Order: sequence, then C-alpha cells, then structure tokens
Amino acid sequence: MRIGDIADSMTRGVEGISASVSEAFFEPVIRLGVTGLSRAGKTVFITSLVANILDRGRMPQLRGAAYGAIAAAYLKPQPDNTIPRFDYETHLSALTGTDPHWPESTRSVSELRLSLKVRQGGLGGILGAVTGPRTLHVDIVDYPGEWLLDLALLDKSYDEWAADAFARMEERSGSEGFRAVLSETDITAELSEPVAQALAGSFTEYLNGAREAGFSDCSPGRFLLPGDLAGSPVLTFAPLPKPDRVPPRSSLYREMERRYEAYKSEVVKPFFRDHFSKIDRQVVLVDALGAIHAGPRAVEDLRRAMTEILGAFRPGRNAWLSSLLVGKRVERILFAATKADHLHHTQHARLTAIMQALMRDARRRADFAGAETAAMAIASLRATVEEERQHQGETLHCVRGRLLSTGRQAALYPGELPEDPAVLLEPARGGADHWLEADYNIMNFAPARLTLKPGDGPPHIRLDKAADFLIGDRLT
Ligand code: GDP
Repeated sequence: MRIGDIADSMTRGVEGISASVSEAFFEPVIRLGVTGLSRAGKTVFITSLVANILDRGRMPQLRGAAYGAIAAAYLKPQPDNTIPRFDYETHLSALTGTDPHWPESTRSVSELRLSLKVRQGGLGGILGAVTGPRTLHVDIVDYPGEWLLDLALLDKSYDEWAADAFARMEERSGSEGFRAVLSETDITAELSEPVAQALAGSFTEYLNGAREAGFSDCSPGRFLLPGDLAGSPVLTFAPLPKPDRVPPRSSLYREMERRYEAYKSEVVKPFFRDHFSKIDRQVVLVDALGAIHAGPRAVEDLRRAMTEILGAFRPGRNAWLSSLLVGKRVERILFAATKADHLHHTQHARLTAIMQALMRDARRRADFAGAETAAMAIASLRATVEEERQHQGETLHCVRGRLLSTGRQAALYPGELPEDPAVLLEPARGGADHWLEADYNIMNFAPARLTLKPGDGPPHIRLDKAADFLIGDRLT
C-alpha cells in the first residue's frame, strides 16, 4: 500500500466516524413504525400526521408545536435506498384535492423521512444553547400488521400450522372452495404444479373472503398482500392434513412443507431482521369500530390477532427474534382506535375503553420491558361533523358526512357503545353470533371537501395527542 493510499483510507475512516457521530449525536433519528391490519387506516394516518406536522395550526397538543420549539419541518430523502418511499404527495392530493377521495392503502413496507428543526433549550440541552436549532429526523416506516402475525409461524411446524388453519376454517364460512379442491387431491402423489397452484389459489381466496367478512387473523400475511412475491413458490402452498405415513420427498405434501419452511426463512425472517428490529417507537392502528360493526366473532378474532401481534413486542416471545433484539427495545407503543369521526365525541371515551380492554390481555401477557404504552381513539382525517337529532322525544348524537357510495350528505346514528367494554367482549369471547343488546352501524363516508387556512393541516381528532405521545418528549 502506498503512503498516499494509507492517508486516504485514514481520512476516509475519520470522515466515516465523524459522519456517523454527527448523525447519532447532533442529528438524532427516531424510527417510528406504523402498523395495523389491512384497512386499519395506516396510509391516511401517515399522510395526515405528516401534513399536520408540516403545517401545525391544528396541533395544539403536540409539545413543540404549541411552544414554537419546532422552528421548521420538512421532508428529506430517506436513509434506506432500497425501501419504497411512502407516496406522501399522491396520498395528500387524494385527500385534499378538489375531488377528495381515500388514497390507496398500504400493500407493503414503505418509508418517509420527516426532519424537524427544534429550537435551543429543546433537543441537545447545553449543546443546543451553543449551536442553535437541532435537527431531529423522524423516519416513518409503514408496514402491514399481517406481517407481524407471521411471527407466530416461526414457532410452528408445517403440521402445527396446518392444524391451526383447519381449526380456524371450522369457525368461519367460506372455505368450501378450498376444501373441494383438497378433497380431489392425493396429497401423497408426486407434486404437480397446477395442483399446488389450485390449492394455494383457493386457500388465498378463502383468506381474502375471511378478511372481507371482518376476520383479523388471515395469516400467512403475504397471501393477502403478496407484492412482488405473487406467483412465487414461497406463496404457492396451502395447509394439508397430516398423512398417516410420511410420503416421499417428491410428493405434494413434502413440497408444501418445504415451501412453508421457505416462507418462514426467506420472507418472514428478513422482514423482522431488516425492518422490525430497527424500530424505536410504534403505533398500532386498530379498526375497532369496523370489527364491532361486523359482529362478536370479528371482535374476538381482532382481540386474538392483537394479542398475537403484540407478542412481537414481547421480549423472549421468540428466541430467534430475541437474539436479533439484544440491547434494543421499542420505547413507546401507542394503540389507536381509528376512524373515531364515525362517533359523536360523547362516545369517544367509550371507544378508548373498548380499545384498552381489547389490549388488556395482550398487555398483561406481554411484558413490554419498560416500553411506555397508551391507548386512544383518533380520526386521522375527520370526514364528518356532529349533529343532534330529535327522535321520539330523545336526543340522538349523530354524525353527518358525504356518503362514499352516492356522494350525498347523510346523518348516521351509529348506536350507543356500552360504558362497560365487557358488554361487548364477553359475548365475543363466548362465541355469540350477533349482538343481543344493540346494533352498531357504520357508513362509508368520503373525505370532506376542504378549504385549509394557511398554516393548517387537514382536520383530525386527537392526532396531535397521538403525535405528542410518540415524539413529543423529543421536542422540548
Ligand atoms: P391501510 O390499509 O391501513 O393503509 O388503511 P387506509 O389508511 O387506506 O384506510 C382504509 C380506509 O379506512 C380508508 O379508505 C377510509 O375509508 C377509512 N379511513 C381511514 N382513516 C379514516 C379516518 O380518519 N376517518 C374516516 N372516516 N375513515 C377513515
């Protein structure tokens, strides 16, 4: 090596160190994970959160916004070059354009870097006083909650997983098509790709149907959101009953087993290693109202799925994951019931209580190793206004909005949520078919047409409180 080369590499080394030191020390980064099952409201949440942090007029409860500590907020290129960027601009123009509509939902993992300049006395303490505003980067990572459900697969052999999948089919309708294909299949025969595809296809159809019917646990997660894995062998498998004798390697059964194992090692593990393990703070969005509307079975399924999902945040839940997370933990987890604008504000506290009760089991079982947790009811984008109506001498607390189906204005009385969450959760646990006491309605509202004042983001409910819980402590 020439002396020049040595000097070069030394300088590069020093530059490398100073870059990482300045990033870690002067420009701290929070990786904020946003997850929830499909249609929980992740895309709308991120879009509105970012818009409301860029224009903070409607964020009085976010520390830093209220005291003026945030000197500026802007979007910067994200640090990870191979993760798709969260398509903020397209989603925002969908929500706030002249013909407002809901944006396309999350289908895979994506990322967005939001950078905040925070005034002295905030971040950095003494150093802040010397050097002026500090920069805090918030890297928002959006990913489907279904992918967290897959963690449970790591503990299960193919036969155990298949037995669970068949047990679930018993509790739901819609698996007839898959069972019909299965009944015509000799699972010990030589693998035939069209047969494997027919089984995987009808199994996927059943999972999609279950999701449509309001069920939450429709794992394996990638079957619903395959992205660029669609059609690949890791997604061309299905549960099969265990044969009496182990068939040869070339059989359909053994190949399905092999593909299931490949799904675990080549799809599930890389997600946890590359994305999940780097998250500092997490928000878990839950469409609790949607499940309540779908009925007791959907509520029970949601409760179980949440317990499963939160298992991913429990140290020691899985030995492989624990070894990845040594010395690292998620500092804060927020459980947010979304779409609270379907309810009059007089019912928000009840929705929060239901959310807390849904999570209680999961939280009790999961020792979050010191992570701070909170539950709240929010609406990322408020699509309704409140209205009181008289009906048979009673005042009904309604909400009014533009219907997605017809574009017409309509008022909705969603039904009275119970004060005691057990009124819902107990029949759900007991396997009831429908609610006895009441009916819970939901309507699909379109986003309202907005005229935003300069400095104001889109209207929301408690998004500022949610943001404060997630990052407020770093803004003072
Ligand atoms: P994702 O699959 O988790 O990304 O879910 P989205 O963010 O795409 O939301 C799914 C759907 O839920 C949207 O298309 C809206 O219909 C509805 N939605 C989400 N957030 C809100 C909200 O704050 N208020 C209302 N009324 N509807 C919402």
